[in-house]
Amino acid sequence: MNKKLAAAIQRDNELEDAGMHSDDRRTCWTHQSWAEDCEDLHIKRGVGSNSRPA
Ligand SMILES: [Zn+2]
Repeated sequence: MNKKLAAAIQRDNELEDAGMHSDDRRTCWTHQSWAEDCEDLHIKRGVGSNSRPA
């Protein structure tokens, strides 16, 4: 995982904790990747949202 992605995931985690909806994440907690890079996985396999487990 590159630093830019790691930082973006961390920021999304903090934003989500602050009340941002998980649909607004730019990164995917499930796959630890950019949301746009695993979008297909979610659609085809029904993995669900990008949000962290509660
Ligand atoms: Zn994903």
